[in-house]
Amino acid sequence: MNDVKKIFLFIFLLLTLSIHSQDKKYGLVIHGGAGNIKKENISTEKEKEYNEKLNEALQKGFSILENGGTALDAVNAAINILEDSPLFNAGKGAVLTEKGEAELDASIMDGKNLMAGAVAGLKHIKNPINLARLVMEKSPHVFMIGEGAEEFAKQNNIEFVDNSYFITEERLNQYKKAKERLQERQSEKHGTVGCVALDKNGNLAAGTSTGGMMMKKFGRVGDSPIIGAGTYANNNTCAVSATGHGEYFIRLSVAHEISNLMEYKNLSLKDAADELVLVRLKKMNADGGVIAIDKSGNVATPFNTTGMFRGILISGQKPLIKIFND
Ligand code: ASP
Repeated sequence: MNDVKKIFLFIFLLLTLSIHSQDKKYGLVIHGGAGNIKKENISTEKEKEYNEKLNEALQKGFSILENGGTALDAVNAAINILEDSPLFNAGKGAVLTEKGEAELDASIMDGKNLMAGAVAGLKHIKNPINLARLVMEKSPHVFMIGEGAEEFAKQNNIEFVDNSYFITEERLNQYKKAKERLQERQSEKHGTVGCVALDKNGNLAAGTSTGGMMMKKFGRVGDSPIIGAGTYANNNTCAVSATGHGEYFIRLSVAHEISNLMEYKNLSLKDAADELVLVRLKKMNADGGVIAIDKSGNVATPFNTTGMFRGILISGQKPLIKIFND
């Protein structure tokens, strides 16, 4: 091959590579919980606050991905913003147990190697998702709970807070009402937070963080910290974060089952997520939804409630933030 031919070949290769990399999508999806969320029950001001906070989390995660950061870092950072906001039922603003305390659960999963970390029953960790990540990266375990998890956190520079930090006035009022009318816990809007992301290297990650359900029994653990129920990520299929009535999500292994339907039955992301949320959960009268992204950057956000706080931002597309079923 003469030199001119070599140069042409080189340019051709460069062009194909750059076209290919432009084609490759990256992005993230977040949620701030699903439930009985109706337009008439949220003031315009509150709606604006939700939209702004969701947008902040979305943009933060996206900027990490845009700069070549990992899906895991994007998920972690987006969830931190939602955990720190009193608007959502995770970190500050978490719902309360029947004893009137906040007890937090979280999990995170890396689709690249199926590594995962989860924590439950935390009372003093400001950002539970950070501890879940630490369990994944710095311990030989996947799931740690309560006192043991907090002791592990102490050895690793994790931020501690008093339990009262999590308790907002709004949650306290909800708690008092729920105590008066126990049945209210079922109709309470949930507000768990979650994020799924696909990075420029094709890696998927998922994370979920929650205070659980209002008036839950002391010691109750929901689906959010359970890998395969509330959180799952696998580079071969998809990343999923769930929100809703956790007991049902555990029984159906919702997040893992969506991945299974894609892997073994060749279902599309949308069909697999719809099957779990709109068919199987619905059949059990279980309310909730999921956010999911697949390895090609397709997104699904089905929910069977009146609303789900959610945001989507995929490279080359406009950000989308929604609350209601529209
Ligand atoms: N799934 C969470 C739990 O059961 C609650 C929620 O998503 O709102 O703990």
